[in-house]
Amino acid sequence: ITSEEQSVLQRIEEENVKFLRLQFTDITGTVKNVAIPASQAEKAFDEGIWFDGSSIEGFVRIQESDMRLEPDPSTFEILPWRSNGDDDHASARLICDVVNTDGTRFDGGPRQVLKSVLEKADEMGYSVSIGPEPEFFLFKTDEEGNATTIPHDTGGYFDLAPKDLASDVRRDIIFALEDMGFEIEASHHEVAEGQHEINFKYENALEAADNIATFRSVVRAVAAQNDLHATFMPKPIAEINGSGMHTHISLFDEDGNAFANDSDEFNLSEVAYQFMGGILNHAEAFAAVTNPTVNSYKRLVPGYEAPVYIAWSDVNRSALIRVPDAAGASSRFEVRNPDPSCNPYLALAAIIGAGLHGIETDADPGSPVREDIYEFDDAKREEYGITTLPPNLERAVDALESDEVITDALGEHVTEKFIQAKRSDYADYRTHVSSWETEKYLEKF
Ligand code: GLN
Ligand code: MG
Ligand code: MG
Ligand code: MG
Repeated sequence: ITSEEQSVLQRIEEENVKFLRLQFTDITGTVKNVAIPASQAEKAFDEGIWFDGSSIEGFVRIQESDMRLEPDPSTFEILPWRSNGDDDHASARLICDVVNTDGTRFDGGPRQVLKSVLEKADEMGYSVSIGPEPEFFLFKTDEEGNATTIPHDTGGYFDLAPKDLASDVRRDIIFALEDMGFEIEASHHEVAEGQHEINFKYENALEAADNIATFRSVVRAVAAQNDLHATFMPKPIAEINGSGMHTHISLFDEDGNAFANDSDEFNLSEVAYQFMGGILNHAEAFAAVTNPTVNSYKRLVPGYEAPVYIAWSDVNRSALIRVPDAAGASSRFEVRNPDPSCNPYLALAAIIGAGLHGIETDADPGSPVREDIYEFDDAKREEYGITTLPPNLERAVDALESDEVITDALGEHVTEKFIQAKRSDYADYRTHVSSWETEKYLEKF
């Protein structure tokens, strides 16, 4: 037992924690939980907790199913919505790493995949900072408590109450997040009805991924307490903005922000441009990971502030990468295609893997595009050398399969299971007959 683990045991005692939820995510990013009584905490740190890996999507085969969870003591947090005013029954969570029976690390665990990419960054002398901006919708529920697609309010971008009915809910969400150690920088009503965004402070990439996973559970739990349904589905309603998860990135080395260069027009260093070049070169392939659902590709269309084109810009939001007006320690850029349905560990591993490869190969992102690319025709895009993101999940998976940089970042195990799962989703979708089709054809033919 380490001293960090010891101090967690002490907090469990002091705060009267009765249950511990040991959490990890499967390859689709769904948070899985094993609850143990607090009396088992010491054993959990000491020996880990065994579970059946064959029941987890994308993990292992039945014949090799015993796996172990090793709780990471730095992730200990009391769950605020389980402890409300009832100090006798506090629950806490610990995020876990997944380990094989023989004690070696399990390469198929998403958290391990990200850790491996971050180890590579570390060998190159960098730590990676990530500031995510997840967007989500709050929808009403019906009498039976089921989710509808009726927005909870009719507010718009940055609207204030009373139009922004949800500001009370958003405040509850923020309090719960702060109780769990989040530093919230801003929150606002987004462009679409019922749509919101909460920005939390940038963190090292592993913590950022843990935070995104936690964030989604907190938002859903607090919304449910208010009889609402929160969804991170990328495009719940056609013809209005979808939900993205812009991802701000910077690298730090021993001298500070390695992306900063005050003498550059955009305050970016050589390393920043190389990293950006790597991202642009591999965006088609990592889209399968950052935009992993059939529905993701209905967001990535012109006209809704979501990127479609693989280019960078300091001014326009139709490009994949935008450079905000920031300098010095906050020099960074924003990758705009990820959406909040992604597995945050795998998404960050893929993006960072692409960027690091850009540094290694001195990748060139080209010049910024300052016009609205949505307005370009094919000829003009060709003249500017601008390619597009994949139009659907199937093409994204094809691109992923043939990109060694991204499949290396994910590792063999996850690549195989991930591609299998996504191909199977797409096959389901392809044979489904939608209401769009019956409306369009049933009476016509
Ligand atoms: N909702 C938009 C998207 O899909 C982003 C809108 C914004 O943050 N300006 O990415
Ligand atoms: Mg924002
Ligand atoms: Mg936004
Ligand atoms: Mg943004």
